[in-house]
Parts: sequence; structure tokens; C-alpha cells
Amino acid sequence: MSHPLIIAIDGPSGSGKSTLGRMLARELNLLYIDTGSMYRAVALAVMESSINSNDDVAVGSLASRVSIDLRGEPDSMEVTLEGRDVTEEIRSEEVTHLSSVISAIPAVRRAMVARQREMGERGAVLNGRDIGTVVFPNADVKFFLTAVPEERAKRRFVEEHTHDSSVSFDETFADMAERDQRDATRIDSPLTVAEDAIVLDSTGLSIDEVLQRMIVAIRERSEKRKS
Ligand code: C5P
Repeated sequence: MSHPLIIAIDGPSGSGKSTLGRMLARELNLLYIDTGSMYRAVALAVMESSINSNDDVAVGSLASRVSIDLRGEPDSMEVTLEGRDVTEEIRSEEVTHLSSVISAIPAVRRAMVARQREMGERGAVLNGRDIGTVVFPNADVKFFLTAVPEERAKRRFVEEHTHDSSVSFDETFADMAERDQRDATRIDSPLTVAEDAIVLDSTGLSIDEVLQRMIVAIRERSEKRKS
């Protein structure tokens, strides 16, 4: 492939998108773009403003104005909001919840998608919910990662516990189910499997096993395109 390689990774919460996206970006020496962190940064900007989060027009307009950046290497990526490092802050429960709500607003999605295209056009591994369907429908390789809900919630729980140890597993499970439902049923860019995506169910597999399958699939597609 002579043009910049674009790899799309979509899937529900806790399916391993971030871990695998980072590993793939490192392996392929590509930029890593975690699009979820951009929706999280918009949510934080809303929380810190006087805007009512139910006011779609005001939230959409804020999303198109606010400056969000992803900096650094895949393993130590820093998310900035108006130049301020918010990497840790955007992982709070409140931001997690609000990001799921505001990401259903079409104007918010339009603003984020435009930035994601700009950031990724020179080659990247992007993860999210709509990368292979909306952001880069012509991506070179598209993955849809999934796993049974119990396993996904377990991964989320371990991750969340490092930020907030008062959250119970049942709360994590319920919150994840609610967010997945919202992502899958929203009108604008719902979470769906792109027609040409490679579906990988990571239930019972180690991260390395999934990574190896992804690398094999990327190689196969590259060979096919060359021939
Ligand atoms: O991936 P992460 O859980 O960090 O994303 C936070 C929220 O942003 C998700 O719950 C989802 O609703 C939303 N999102 C989205 N489209 C993307 C990435 C994330 O709607 N491409």
C-alpha cells in the first residue's frame, strides 16, 4: 500500500479497542487516535461551562469551538482541552456518562468527525464507534472488536477501579449496558458493524492472541491490494 495506512477499530465498551489500538499503532509505527477521548473532552468542556447539557444547539456550538488535542506516543498519550492536560480528568464517572449522552448530538459528531479526518488522513489507527462506517469508510482494514458483556464489564471495572475505588461491579455493568444501548440506538452514526469489517470476538482470548490475528489480517489485506 503506497498511500497512508488507515486502520479502523470499532466496537462496544470494554472490547479491548484502546489496548489493541495502541499496540497496533506502535507495531505499525502509525499515529494512534482514540476518538472516545475527544467526546470525553467535549463532555468535560460542557461540565466546566455554564451550558445546560440538554441544550443540543449550545453543546454542538461549543464542540465546534473548543480546542482538543491528542499528543504524544500511543502509550503515553496526553489529551488536552484548550491546552490544559485533561488526560486523567476525562476518565471520571461523570465525564464517562456525559460523553455518552452528548455524543448522540449530530452537531457534536460533525465537529469531531471533521477533526478526526484531518488528524488521521496521513495514516493512523483510529478507535471508536463509527470509524469504519462514517469517519473513514474507505479505511484499509476495519476491525469490529467484541466480547461477551460480562468480560467487557470486568475489563471496565478493573480500569475504573484505578480512578474510583467506590464503584461496584454491578454499577459498572449497568452503566456499560446503558451506554452500549445508547450508542447502538442513536439516530446519527449508531454503533454498527461495517459491511467489510473483520469481526473479532476476544472472549477467552489474550490480548496478544487478538493482536496477532489483527496483524495477520492487515498483512493479508495488504498483499491482496498489491496483487
Ligand atoms: O471509547 P470511550 O468509552 O472512551 O468513549 C466515550 C463515549 O464516546 C462512548 O460512550 C460513546 O458514546 C462515545 N463515542 C462515540 N463515537 C466514537 C467514540 C466514542 O460516540 N467514535
